[in-house]
Amino acid sequence: MSDRAPATLLDGRALAARIEATLADEVRTFTAMFQRPPRLVVVLVGDMAASASYVKSKAAAAARVGIDAEVVRVPAATDTQALVALVQSIARDEQGPADGILVQLPLPAHVDTVAVLDAVPPDRDVDGFHPENAGLLSQGRARFIPCTAAGVQRVLLVAGIVTAGRHAVIIGRSDIVGKPLALLLSAKGPGGDATVTICHSRSADMPAITRQADILVAAVGRPGLVTADMVKPGAAVIDVGINRIAASDGTSRLVGDVDFDAVREIAGWITPVPGGVGPLTVAMLLANTALAAELRSRGG
Ligand code: NAD
Repeated sequence: MSDRAPATLLDGRALAARIEATLADEVRTFTAMFQRPPRLVVVLVGDMAASASYVKSKAAAAARVGIDAEVVRVPAATDTQALVALVQSIARDEQGPADGILVQLPLPAHVDTVAVLDAVPPDRDVDGFHPENAGLLSQGRARFIPCTAAGVQRVLLVAGIVTAGRHAVIIGRSDIVGKPLALLLSAKGPGGDATVTICHSRSADMPAITRQADILVAAVGRPGLVTADMVKPGAAVIDVGINRIAASDGTSRLVGDVDFDAVREIAGWITPVPGGVGPLTVAMLLANTALAAELRSRGG
C-alpha cells in the first residue's frame, strides 16, 4: 500500500473552456475590426467515423468562440491530384476567405498524404504540419505549433509543472505529436528547458528510461502501454493516446495509452482520456486559426 495521495487530475476540458473564453474575446475584436469572423476550412475525405467525430468537435468548438468553420466533404475515392487541386482552390479563397486550412488525417491509403499537406500554404497551415512551420519550430521561432504538442505544453504550464532542468520522456516519434513536443519541451523559455528523451517502437528497455521521467508523455495508440512500474513516483503523466476499446456487450469506450487506475496511484499529475489532451488539441487549433487570421490581416 502506498501512502501517497493519488495523482492530481489535469482537467483538459476545464482548461480548454478557459482558453476558449479568452479566444472568444479576441475573435470578437477581430470580427468587429474586419467585418467578418476568422474562417477555418476543414477538408474531410471519406466517412471514417473517428475522423468525422473529430471534425464535428472542431467545428462545434469553432462556433463556440465565433470562428466560422466550413467542412468540405469529399468521397474516399478522391485521388491525390484532385485533393491537391481542392486545397489549392480553397487557398485561393474561391469558397470564401480561408484563414486556416486543415486536412483531416488519416487520408485513405491511395492518397499521397505528404503531397496534400504540402499544398496547404504555410501561412494558413493551422495544424502546423507544413515543412516551413516544422522548420520554424525547430529553430525556436514557431509560427503554427502542431495543436496536440502545444496543448501538452499548455497543460504543463498552467498546472505549474516545472519543465526546466527536468527529464521529459516522450513515447512516440510522429511528426504530429512526439517530434514537435520534443522540440517544444527542449526549447529555451517557459514550458521548455527540459532534457528530452524520445522513445519509440525500437527503443530497448523502455521501462528503465520512463522510470527516470519527471514528465512522461505517451503518444503511441496502444492501450495499457504505460503501466505503474514504468512511472517514477510523483511524475506528471500526460496521456495523448486515443484508443477505442470494444466491450463484450457491443458498446465501446475510449481509453488512452496509460493504465490510468494503477498509474494514478503513483503519479503526481495525470491527464484522463477522454477529457485530457483531446479538448486542449481542439482549443489550440482555434488559437492557431485566430493567429492565422490575425497574421493575414496584418499582411504577414
Ligand atoms: P503514430 O502512429 O504516427 O505514431 C505512433 C508512435 O508510437 C510511433 O512513433 C512509434 O514509433 C511509437 N510506437 C509504436 N509502438 C510502440 C511501442 N510498443 N513502444 C514505444 N513506442 C511505440 O501516431 P500519432 O499520430 O503520433 O498518435 C499517437 C496516439 O495519439 C494515437 O492514439 C492517436 O490517436 C493519439 N492522438 C491524440 C490526439 C489528441 O488530441 N489527444 C492527437 C493526435 C494523436
